[in-house]
Amino acid sequence: MMPGCVEWPEEVAARYRREGYWRGETLGDLLRRVAAAHGPRTALVSGDSRWSYRELDERADRLAAGLGGLGIGSGDRVLVQLPNIPDLVFLCFALFRLGAAPVLALPPHRHSEIGHLAAATDAVAYVVPDTCQGFDHRELARRVQASAPSLRHVIVSGDPQEFTALADLERDPVPHDSPDPGDVALFLLSGGTTGRSKLIPRTHDDYACNIRLSAENAGLDETSVYLAALPIAHNYALGCPGVLGTLQAGGTVVLTPTPSPDDAFPLIERERVTVTGLVPSLAQLWAEAAEWARRDLSSLRLVQVGGAAVSGELAGRVGRTLGRLQQSFGMAEGLLSQSRGDDSAELLVSTQGKPLAQADEVRLVGDDGRDVPPGEAGELLVRGPYTIRGYYRAPEHNAAAFTPDGFFRSGDLARLTGTGHLAIVGRVKDVINRGGDKVPADEVEDHLLAHPEVDAVAVVAMPDPLLGERTCAYIVPRRKAPSLKTIEAFLRKRGVAAYKVPDWIEDVAALPYTPVGKIDKARLRADIAHRRGGRRP
Ligand code: AMP
Repeated sequence: MMPGCVEWPEEVAARYRREGYWRGETLGDLLRRVAAAHGPRTALVSGDSRWSYRELDERADRLAAGLGGLGIGSGDRVLVQLPNIPDLVFLCFALFRLGAAPVLALPPHRHSEIGHLAAATDAVAYVVPDTCQGFDHRELARRVQASAPSLRHVIVSGDPQEFTALADLERDPVPHDSPDPGDVALFLLSGGTTGRSKLIPRTHDDYACNIRLSAENAGLDETSVYLAALPIAHNYALGCPGVLGTLQAGGTVVLTPTPSPDDAFPLIERERVTVTGLVPSLAQLWAEAAEWARRDLSSLRLVQVGGAAVSGELAGRVGRTLGRLQQSFGMAEGLLSQSRGDDSAELLVSTQGKPLAQADEVRLVGDDGRDVPPGEAGELLVRGPYTIRGYYRAPEHNAAAFTPDGFFRSGDLARLTGTGHLAIVGRVKDVINRGGDKVPADEVEDHLLAHPEVDAVAVVAMPDPLLGERTCAYIVPRRKAPSLKTIEAFLRKRGVAAYKVPDWIEDVAALPYTPVGKIDKARLRADIAHRRGGRRP
């Protein structure tokens, strides 16, 4: 594997191969195999354009040739920040074939996040759209390139200005070395951790297992039509089963410009979409809209809801208004727990299903690190054929985030039912789950502390009726607390993604501390919940 990655122990890897979890096929070869079987079938739909499997396969090869011509090859990291457009799909497969790993940044990321990712990976190229939602990514690329000496190329989907156009890169395919299935195929970003996003190296073998198992659990086949409503750059819509899970089953992926019912519902009707994945806030919006929208959504067979806690009320409503519900609990680090087709109505509403693989080893531990008694809640620890053994280039962090025998400490609190179903009941990690967008508290605190008027700060979750949680910053000012507007402008100037900007500020004289001298965030969370009572800011 790439230097800086942690491998599975050889005997464990051998077991995963023996038991058929790892099949020794790269993601690039997987597309070749599916294209050979389903050549003329539609693989991808965007607007009025459609690509067959054969066209997708050829496009990936032609793009790989062009990228190879730029000197991008095996073992390189390529920072990719594209919205849900066909180029993202073509590019990922081209990179998979070259053995160069896409580092999948999210579209809202700005200089603070992108600069960090470029430096942390020594990426050789950065791929951006020209503009996205009114933001000029070429401007951002200029700034990033000036501070990232490794970045040799900026490649633009759309008008490139002084950079390289992605569209000009296609070449007649040329032979090149194929990566090993045990190599890193892609990097996902961690959501739930301390400090800046950690990089999650997913191998061809392990990610192919991830997409296959979740596609099987969702019953996907060549008749399936998946609507990619959430960002494909995120694990959920990419591979749980998402775009890659659908393609490996020979189905059709439909891209929507936005996830709003106005854009998504007509596509569901036109393309006879059978499956999609939503976060709870979006599911709520869709469920409400479905009650009055004059659109035929009857093709929807399965609606995944996950990424953040799903209330029982919403779970019931999705089933009634949209299609059969599948709860989905997952993490870019690996483990996926999803409802099964044969789950009872009660288990469907109250649990997040079961881990996908027999070989997923799940432990629930208390503060003392020991397994909790059956039925009690504990921190979820996991090991398995598609769960990483370490973040990229992060030995110190890995020492805390993994047990010595390789279990990943998820930071989630869970309970196991007698039937082996997993119910997520809380979190021990210091992260705000803002409708599925993860906001690491300490990252925002560090930015806020750089403001001249901020003496001390603590960022906590506050309840929100739509997003589940929003971000509240308790600020101890030096003289006068800055307003929310000032803070927003300050963070934007520092290049922080908009979803990390606090939604609410509480101006306080001092922060509460626990007896061991840590900021008492539990007290702050209770305080803001009591004061705001779940009202929207
Ligand atoms: P990410 O790696 O960005 O997908 O974030 C993973 C984290 O999202 C998990 O560790 C959980 O904290 C949270 N999460 C994902 N799905 C759910 C769910 N269904 N219910 C509650 N939390 C969830």
